[in-house]
Amino acid sequence: MSQPLSILQCNDVTVEFDGFKAIQGMSLTLAKGELRFLIGPNGAGKTTMLDVICGKVRPSTGQVTFNGDIDITRKKEHQIAELGIGRKFQAPSIFPSMTVLENLEIALRQRRGVFATLFARLQAEEQKRMKRQLEMIGLADQEDSRAGGLSHGEKQWLEIGMMLLQEPDILLLDEPVAGMTDKETDKTGELLQEIARERSIVVVEHDMEFVRSFASKVTVMHEGKLLKEGTMEDVQRDDRVAEVYLGK
Ligand code: ADP
Repeated sequence: MSQPLSILQCNDVTVEFDGFKAIQGMSLTLAKGELRFLIGPNGAGKTTMLDVICGKVRPSTGQVTFNGDIDITRKKEHQIAELGIGRKFQAPSIFPSMTVLENLEIALRQRRGVFATLFARLQAEEQKRMKRQLEMIGLADQEDSRAGGLSHGEKQWLEIGMMLLQEPDILLLDEPVAGMTDKETDKTGELLQEIARERSIVVVEHDMEFVRSFASKVTVMHEGKLLKEGTMEDVQRDDRVAEVYLGK
C-alpha cells in the first residue's frame, strides 16, 4: 500500500531559548487530511512545536517542509499563514463589538486582500460561503449577535470559522476545548471531524478524555523529544508514557 501524502514534515527540529533546549531533535510527519493530537506533560515542548510550524519561533537546527517541497523553516509568520497554515491560540482573537457575521466578513476580506476589497461588496458566492461556514460552526441563528456576548465555546467556534474562511490547508489549535462545557466539548469534537474531511489539523490537547474520543494518531512529547507515536491505545500501553505522563 502506498504511503498517504504528507502535507507537513518537521525533521530533526531543535529549539533553544538562551541555551535551554526546549525542543531536541523532534520529527513529525502529518498526512493530508489527518487530525493529529500532540500531548505530553507541561513543558514537553508542544506549544513550541506549533510555534515552529507557524513561524513564530525559529529552530536552531532542523527543517520544516510544507506540501512536499516548500521549505518554510526560515519563512516569516505571515508568509507561512499565506501559504496555508493557520494558527489558533487559546484566547480567541475575535472582534467583540462586531456581530458574528461581521467577524466572518473580516476574515473573508483578509483572504481576498484587505486593500482591494475594503469597500467592495461581497459577491454572492462569498456570501454563500459565509452562510455555509455559519452553519458548520453552529452559529447560524446568532449571525447578528455581538461576538463579545457569545459563550466561551461559541467564541472559539467563531474563531475557527474565521480561520476556515481563509482556507488553510493546516490548522494548528492550542487546547481548543479548554474551559468548555461537556456539551461544547462534544460539539467541538464533531466540528474537528468535519474540518478534517478537507484539511489537516494539529491539536495540542491536555484533555485526555477528549483525545480518547477520536481514532486519531497521537504524538507524545516529553522534554522536547518524541516519546511515542500511535493510537491512544498504543500510547497508553507504553510504560514510558505511563511513567512520564499518565502518572501510572
Ligand atoms: P508545553 O506546551 O508542552 O507545555 P512549551 O512548548 O510551552 O511546553 O515549553 C517547553 C519548554 O520551553 C518549557 O520549559 C518552557 O518553559 C520553555 N519555553 C517556552 N517558550 C519559551 C521562551 N519564549 N523563552 C524561554 N523558555 C521558553
